[in-house]
Amino acid sequence: MNIKTSKIDTIIHPSWIAPVVPENTLYQNYSIAIHEGRIHDLLPKQEILGKYSADVEIDLDTHLLIPGLINTHTHSPMSLMRGLADDLPLMDWLNNHIWPTEQKHVSAEFVYDGSLLACAEMIRSGTTCFNDMYFFPEESARAVEHAGMRAKLGLILIDFPSAWAKDADEYLAKGIELHDQLHNNSLISTAFAPHAPYTVSDDPLKRIATYAEELDIPIHIHLHEIADEVEQAVSQTGKRPIERLNELGLLTPRLLAVHMTQLTDAEIKLVAETGAHVLHCPESNLKLASGFSPIFKLQQAGVNVTLGTDGAASNNDLDMIAEMRTAALLAKAVANNASALPADDVLRMATINAATALGLDSEIGSLEIGKSADITAVDLSGIENQPVYEPVSQLIYSAGRENVSNVWVAGQHLLKNRELTTLDEKSILDKAVYWQKKIHT
Ligand SMILES: [Zn+2]
Repeated sequence: MNIKTSKIDTIIHPSWIAPVVPENTLYQNYSIAIHEGRIHDLLPKQEILGKYSADVEIDLDTHLLIPGLINTHTHSPMSLMRGLADDLPLMDWLNNHIWPTEQKHVSAEFVYDGSLLACAEMIRSGTTCFNDMYFFPEESARAVEHAGMRAKLGLILIDFPSAWAKDADEYLAKGIELHDQLHNNSLISTAFAPHAPYTVSDDPLKRIATYAEELDIPIHIHLHEIADEVEQAVSQTGKRPIERLNELGLLTPRLLAVHMTQLTDAEIKLVAETGAHVLHCPESNLKLASGFSPIFKLQQAGVNVTLGTDGAASNNDLDMIAEMRTAALLAKAVANNASALPADDVLRMATINAATALGLDSEIGSLEIGKSADITAVDLSGIENQPVYEPVSQLIYSAGRENVSNVWVAGQHLLKNRELTTLDEKSILDKAVYWQKKIHT
């Protein structure tokens, strides 16, 4: 008689598991049991084998399992503008290159194709969830659904008209309509996404603050990205943008503030007190020479800091493993302290801190029993990653996204030995060439 086992969907046997919660923990020779899309159990391999039998058993000897990475700030359709205008300062880049291209080319088709390209890149980089901001978010929703990923899609609002909406009323109406459509979707949710204080006026910001409370969703905004943004606001309104947003009622735990490179000590204290989150995009800040976010100071003040790649037009990739390394290195340089932002901390920023900011921490961000099976496996067996003393350090300081071997979202195996299972690579590549030709004429 076989008394041993309950039948479950999948068991994964990796060499190491970094669950992220509990903090600074590493399980060696543990296995993870997945059933109906959730983490069902997490035990030493022999105990799992004694307790369960699975339809699918996957041996990932030499691999490290981590929670799926969460990219908390990107503009997924901008993947189609990767490399279009490099080596330029932010305002020149936006005013003379990005915005004119968007005026001419952004459409439902552009957004769907660009989002699909971004999803393919993100899955291949170990990212399972992203927080997006762009026009036609309903098209990004279709792409995310097709890919099988998880996302929080921004309900964008900007003071000037676009192909998607003509004014604040239409942006808000379309956004709320999409929110309603996605209300019961288990993988896709929404956030308000007013572009930035310098592109959105007081009235729509106030309305967004009210609606965000009613709908119980976050507010995702670029904030204090560069010194010039702050100086211009002071000369026009007498106020720094953070002060203005605070007066409008936006500085709350709902606020997802992207960049934050220009911060006084008083502002750091204010952000900590109000519970707003900082979405740090170090590579975009470096490339556009935007400034340095004081990550170590923010962390010491108790601010929840997460990581994002920003769009592929300003990075130029959606690679969260590289972003973690850049964040760790930059934080040390900015704080003049080699102990600032150690490997375990930066992995938390890309997982549980991100889940907390997005309000998804009961579902994702760590490998804990009961949470959704959003999992990334990284193969550390190659020359470039040997020998392995500390797997999490190796992930941050040595590994690259090419070492991501397998990815699951809600138990669905989206990347299998580096092969995409839900997306057709050939057609995505064909579309990228199609848009390149169209944009570059
Ligand atoms: Zn951005």
